[in-house]
Amino acid sequence: MPRRRLPLSLTLAAALTLGGGLAASGALFLGVSHLECDNMALAFAQRADERVAAVRQGMDQAVEVLTVTNQLFARGEPVSRQQFADFTSALLERHRFIQAFNYHRVVRAEDRAAAEAALQQVRPNTIFTELRPEGQVPAPMRGRYHVVDYLEPMAGNEAAFGLNVSQNAEVMGALDIARGSGRAAATGLFALAQDATPQPSFEMILPILDKDGAMTGDTAVIIRGNELVRSSLAGAGLLESNDIFVSVYASEHADASKRLLSTGPTQVSHDHFLADWLMPDGPAVHSTVLRIAGRPWRIDVAAATRPFLADHMASTALLVGGILITLLSTAFVQASGQRARKVQQLVRQRTADLRRTNRRLVEDMIARERAEKALQQSEQRFRQLVSMSSDWYWEQDAALRFTMVTGAFTEKTGVPVDTVLGKTRWEFQPDLLETEAGRSHIAQVKAHEPFANLEYKTVDEFGDTRWFCVNGQPVFDETGTLAGYRGTGSDITERKLTEQRVHHVAQHDVLTGLPNRSLLQDRLGQAIAYATRSGYPVWVMLIDLDRFKFVNDSMGHKAGDVLLMTVAARLRGSLRDTDTVARLSGDEFVVILSEHAEEPLRPEIVQRVMDSVAQPVMLGTKEFFVTCSIGVAVYPSEGTPADSLIEHADIAMYSAKKMGRNNFQFYTPAMNEESLERVRIEGALRNALERNEFVLHYQPQVDLKSGRIVGMEALIRWNHPELGMVPPVRFIGIAEETGLIVQIGAWVMRTACAQNKAWQDAGLGKLRVAVNLSARQFGAADLIASLESVLNDTGLDPDCLEIELTESLFMSDVTPAVELLHRMKSLGVNLSIDDFGTGYSSLSYLSRFPIDVLKIDRSFVADITHDVNDAAIVTSIIALAHNLKLAVIAEGVETAEQLDYLRTHGCDEMQGYYFSKPLPAADFEQMLRQGRCLALPAPEDEAFAASAA
Ligand code: C2E
Ligand code: MG
Ligand code: MG
Repeated sequence: MPRRRLPLSLTLAAALTLGGGLAASGALFLGVSHLECDNMALAFAQRADERVAAVRQGMDQAVEVLTVTNQLFARGEPVSRQQFADFTSALLERHRFIQAFNYHRVVRAEDRAAAEAALQQVRPNTIFTELRPEGQVPAPMRGRYHVVDYLEPMAGNEAAFGLNVSQNAEVMGALDIARGSGRAAATGLFALAQDATPQPSFEMILPILDKDGAMTGDTAVIIRGNELVRSSLAGAGLLESNDIFVSVYASEHADASKRLLSTGPTQVSHDHFLADWLMPDGPAVHSTVLRIAGRPWRIDVAAATRPFLADHMASTALLVGGILITLLSTAFVQASGQRARKVQQLVRQRTADLRRTNRRLVEDMIARERAEKALQQSEQRFRQLVSMSSDWYWEQDAALRFTMVTGAFTEKTGVPVDTVLGKTRWEFQPDLLETEAGRSHIAQVKAHEPFANLEYKTVDEFGDTRWFCVNGQPVFDETGTLAGYRGTGSDITERKLTEQRVHHVAQHDVLTGLPNRSLLQDRLGQAIAYATRSGYPVWVMLIDLDRFKFVNDSMGHKAGDVLLMTVAARLRGSLRDTDTVARLSGDEFVVILSEHAEEPLRPEIVQRVMDSVAQPVMLGTKEFFVTCSIGVAVYPSEGTPADSLIEHADIAMYSAKKMGRNNFQFYTPAMNEESLERVRIEGALRNALERNEFVLHYQPQVDLKSGRIVGMEALIRWNHPELGMVPPVRFIGIAEETGLIVQIGAWVMRTACAQNKAWQDAGLGKLRVAVNLSARQFGAADLIASLESVLNDTGLDPDCLEIELTESLFMSDVTPAVELLHRMKSLGVNLSIDDFGTGYSSLSYLSRFPIDVLKIDRSFVADITHDVNDAAIVTSIIALAHNLKLAVIAEGVETAEQLDYLRTHGCDEMQGYYFSKPLPAADFEQMLRQGRCLALPAPEDEAFAASAA
């Protein structure tokens, strides 16, 4: 069963009021209750004290009575029985609690008889008696007696007359105390000899001393304890009380056997848990122990049980009142809270209703506005659409003749409307009959079909081509017969021109404006098709600029671009308009030449192209020469299918490059072999270093005065597992192109230096080793650092290293090269120029270079003995070098004649087969050990030879 929710839910304010009110009432109740309790305790204590005071007074009176009585005897004069009776009778009258006054006389054994006789004078037959448990017996013979000699009143106390108390421990004990203290002392409770039913009674006693201080007897008062207390309380008007009770004990403790009196219950307990809680110390039994007459007297005052309300009226009233007020306030607060909440709810609901209504209204309004706006926009869009998609509107009759064209037509096209009206579209635009699109349009309209995006062009009155685009719909009358056409037209000339531009950009090189690779393919296809049709050959020339990369790297890309644009223009200029000149990539161009009946193709054309390129170019302030290498492939020809034309032209171009650049080659099938080998070598070369396939051979260099070996050139060989010993001409070029030469060159440098140092250490003389440095190495950033580290690592004296450079290094820009050479020179090495004389550059730069040696190219040496020109060049090189304080070495010396010529013309050193081919290190070492020398003619012969010359 689901739990029922309490219908009452308190508001916060009501809950706070309730909580606060209850708490306040509780607190008030507690506070007041405590006050009440405190008051009660105070009042009780006061009343208890009154009672204690009353009891004390009674006791004190008893002590006083005894003391006064004792003083009667203490004067030393004999007190007669009559005097004693007179003295005490008044006291007995006043103090009802006194049972009797006694005078105990101390009697020695010898005086017993006389004493008994004296007693018998008062009362016949009286003898000394003693009180035993079994009853009163005659006193036996004792050394000393302590007998009741005087006794007042006699009536009712007769049994005590002549009673010996020397055996009564209570009496004797009290007497001892009294003697010690000099004051009255009381006994404990005991039964009186005269009592048939024992009552709590006691005796107060005070000794009588003679002038020597010896005890002659004592005075005692026999007191009814009960009576004493009762009379004391009654005297103070405190006896009759039903809410407070007094108990008095002749002891420190509430010992019932020693109780003198009890006016009610001795112990009272609370009747209410609240009272317990409020007065945890308990109510009150007020105990006081008084010391009177040498012993303790305990007085317990107890309050009677009272109903809780009796004492807590005020607090309880406060509590009840507080709770009532709290409940009332809570109810009030709750009621007003609920009312406020209801009002709030009502307000909220009303507000929400209002808001909803408002929102709906606003939404309706927005929706209406939106709809209106959408309508407006739609209309506007429609208008814009029409105006964007078309420029004019037209209508034709059933015979497809224009009956109406809007004015915008003339505005856009510049063609008067009159020239169109009354004509069919193809009458106005006869070209339509020629084109595929036009013909299909005519078929469409004749079949009464709609047409779209019909594009055609016309030439306007200024001779400019204009493009139109038209759309049309057939119009039928109610019988379904064609009534005519109507549609829109627009001028799309701008778009067409843009398309053409995009098309052009896509097919042309941005830098040079020449057709790019894609258009080239197109043109080549056309040329081949034409060649196949006409039977005339087509030539494809692949033109590659020599050392273009060098220009680009050293002079910057801007200069490179200028050079390319210049070359492109020159190529175009050197050819017929019908020929295609395209840029294939970087510095590669392709020319397609088609032969025509009136114009056969001849190699001179190629030469003309080369010459046009080789004209000097101004790059900034510098005049620069650029050459090119050209490969030509012919179609149709043996071994060249149409799709290999460019590839074969490329192979032929490589062959031209290898032949020393700046020339051209026609493709032959043999070249293909070479190029295949090239590819093979390139692949194998990449692994050669790792596989340790390179070796160095050393060719001695001989001093022409002493005939002694003074140095050697380190020449690399490639020991390929399949190709055998590959000479450097076959791979150095490839290594340069691929960049591998940098690593290979570093290996050569290190190996050659280490080898030379090893020979020196072996005592084979301080020779110089020459190492070839490629242009790519020269350009490497870490050249100096790597040279330094080789020298350091091998420990070779830099003076024993000669670096061979070629002229080509300085061709383009001399300044950075000079600086680099100086840095190399500062390492302490020798620099020589290899193959000197084959470069194109002027000799003037030599003076600016920190060069040590010129090395005459072997092509000059080969011809010195039979070519006067070469001989003259060699002599002038030697003279020039000596002028510049450079040494000269001739390479490729094969014959004695060559040697002779060089010697007689002052050449310093030689290197060549005549003395020795390049040798493996072991063979070279053997040659050194044998101390081989060049056999030179004796000095006389020389003198003779010189005079003959
Ligand atoms: P090069 O520096 O001019 O080296 C001289 C070339 O002439 C060597 O050809 C040598 O064998 C050859 N030769 C020497 N004496 C005679 C002779 O009496 N008659 C004939 N016909 N030839 C002679 P090789 O060793 O084939 O080297 C060719 C070229 O390869 C070198 O020309 C050099 O440019 C390049 N080369 C060789 N080794 C290295 C190298 O370690 N690094 C670089 N970068 N290029 C090297
Ligand atoms: Mg060399
Ligand atoms: Mg050389």
